[in-house]
Amino acid sequence: MSEKILAMDIGGTSIKLAIVEEDQIIKFTSYKNIWKSKQDQMLMDLKGILTRWIQEYQITKIGIGCPGDIKDNVVVFAANLNWKDFHLVDQLHEIFPNLSIKIANDGQAATLAEMNYGLLKGVENGIFIVFGRGVGGSLILNHHIYQGSNQRGGNFGHMVIKGPKARKCNCGRKGCFETYASVAGLIQTIKETNYRSGQNTPLGKLGGLRISELAHNQNPIILKAIKQWNKDIAESILSLTLIIDPSHIVLAGGITESGLIDLDEIKNKLSEQGFDHVVVEISKFRGKAGVVGAASLHKENN
Ligand SMILES: [Zn+2]
Repeated sequence: MSEKILAMDIGGTSIKLAIVEEDQIIKFTSYKNIWKSKQDQMLMDLKGILTRWIQEYQITKIGIGCPGDIKDNVVVFAANLNWKDFHLVDQLHEIFPNLSIKIANDGQAATLAEMNYGLLKGVENGIFIVFGRGVGGSLILNHHIYQGSNQRGGNFGHMVIKGPKARKCNCGRKGCFETYASVAGLIQTIKETNYRSGQNTPLGKLGGLRISELAHNQNPIILKAIKQWNKDIAESILSLTLIIDPSHIVLAGGITESGLIDLDEIKNKLSEQGFDHVVVEISKFRGKAGVVGAASLHKENN
């Protein structure tokens, strides 16, 4: 029988916790505001629930997906969390000394979910993109996640896609893919579209659910902005495709559960450059790829 693993997917706006057995999610919860507290406080806030779950499910292993650059178990830099040299694994070990704890970049962890159990299983060359507060993911080359020389490879969320007057990114540059394609990017595009319309329509507090609701009600500002958002995503995916010539592209993140991503826009854009045979799909695990992948860090051969 396979083992139950406690998985933690740290995102820009929430922390997802789950008990995962292979590709099955036994228990799942999400905390919205916890990450805003200081790093030490965040761990103290989580300690109660982690302790309860560890006892209840007899957990011996924790898998963590975290945004940013991760090296030797240290979060070297996570722009969207404002974390630098955070020894997250060491600090967790102090609280839970007997547990085996593994950490990886959140996009790479989510990719493992799809490579082990989903649509990227057996795929030689592919692209996996997670849309959240930022944009993460991986390039898969020759059946492996491309790591690069310093485990910083495939960081395409910071690929520049717009000109010098483009949006400023948390990384310090301008016009990065994630400033347009992430959920935060979509919200910004909606605000700009609304402003440019000259009408400044009241749209309420924008988030994934609210945007879906407005799109469902055919709000013209929202529909126009979503169209532009999809165009930006398609153009960027074409650029990545030209570089690695993938057979499969899989998209994940909570926003992919909303139906707002236009797969046809992406496929048509790829076809324009002769990439008709690329399979473009929404992740099997959608917004939960992160926790399944974080748990699978403990799987052999990853
Ligand atoms: Zn950037």
